[in-house]
Amino acid sequence: MTAMELASYAMDVRRTRGRRYPEAQHPYRNDYARDRDRVIHSRAFRRLEAKTQVFTMRFSDHFRNRLTHTLEVAQIARTVAGALRINTDLAEALALVHDIGHPPFGHAGERRLDARMREHGEHFDHNLHALRIVEQFEQRYLDFPGLNLTFEVREGIVKHSRDYVAAEFPALSEYLLGERPPLEAQIIDLVDEVAYNTADLDDAFEARVLDFDQLRTEVPVFAAAYDGVDRRHSEGLRKLKFNEALKRILDRLVTDLIENTRRQVEASGVETVEDVRRQEKRLVGFTSDVAGECASLKRFLMSRVYSDPAIVEDRERSVAALDDLFSFFQDHPERMPKHYADLAQREPRHRIVCDYIAGMTDHFLLRQCREFLDASPPKPR
Ligand code: MG
Repeated sequence: MTAMELASYAMDVRRTRGRRYPEAQHPYRNDYARDRDRVIHSRAFRRLEAKTQVFTMRFSDHFRNRLTHTLEVAQIARTVAGALRINTDLAEALALVHDIGHPPFGHAGERRLDARMREHGEHFDHNLHALRIVEQFEQRYLDFPGLNLTFEVREGIVKHSRDYVAAEFPALSEYLLGERPPLEAQIIDLVDEVAYNTADLDDAFEARVLDFDQLRTEVPVFAAAYDGVDRRHSEGLRKLKFNEALKRILDRLVTDLIENTRRQVEASGVETVEDVRRQEKRLVGFTSDVAGECASLKRFLMSRVYSDPAIVEDRERSVAALDDLFSFFQDHPERMPKHYADLAQREPRHRIVCDYIAGMTDHFLLRQCREFLDASPPKPR
């Protein structure tokens, strides 16, 4: 999309606050397109392939992992950004980078790392970890550390899913914490939600951890979608009708997000990105009806899928392995690779151990456990 076709409140790449280390313009890729490409070529992005989304490998290897989830988020983000006439390159870059700071074993792994850091009066937060990855840990270029991303991509990494208070996070003060992020960043958390609320049901159905009748009873938006499909294709295979129902739900959520955001943007009277930034509240959102439907999907996933005994068992064993490895490296920092072992002599040890573990894939962490602790990782059934 050329700049001419962008809405006036879209982030125009020509008005970027730029990179930390100035670089010459590329002849045919704009700065946000380059940022998107840099994310795709990073190691942390490739490692998403071996990080759990919900289902570990023992269920099957055609379920989503964090990389394929990320690609689905990017696809929806592009669609939403295009329909709103905001910057699709920026939205895509933000979608592709949104989970890059996730440690092994999803949110359970994040909570455990955070608990270990709190013992030392610190935190672990995947958004802030993502920022450190793109600023420091990725080493690919001769001229600068990290990926040298534009300000708006770094800002979106920090602010896409929550607001941070400057008093509590002084290190983030450059990211305009008192202001809302551009719309391209505001859409990310919601399209993330659309992506996993539908995809996790799909995977749960395939993994046979989902009770179809329970889903119909407890989630009216599913019942309505499925019944609509069933009326037209009563002879069809249940699996295909289920897929079609999920597709309709996804479409319903995305359409509502686009139309309601358009209405809210219009009602607010914003004309520029600076206007968007100065708003009291974020302008991207579902109508309250559809927000309620999302909440019911999420409630069902929480109470019926994420709490399935097989998933819980995997999760607990994985998190225990992470915990043991954290303790082991705390006691034996010299057993980490030389780079981290050296750092641990100069900087707080728990911080270096946390960074090292957070970067691991699930497999690698379990292998390390086997190697150092002789603990058997979860076995496939
Ligand atoms: Mg995500």
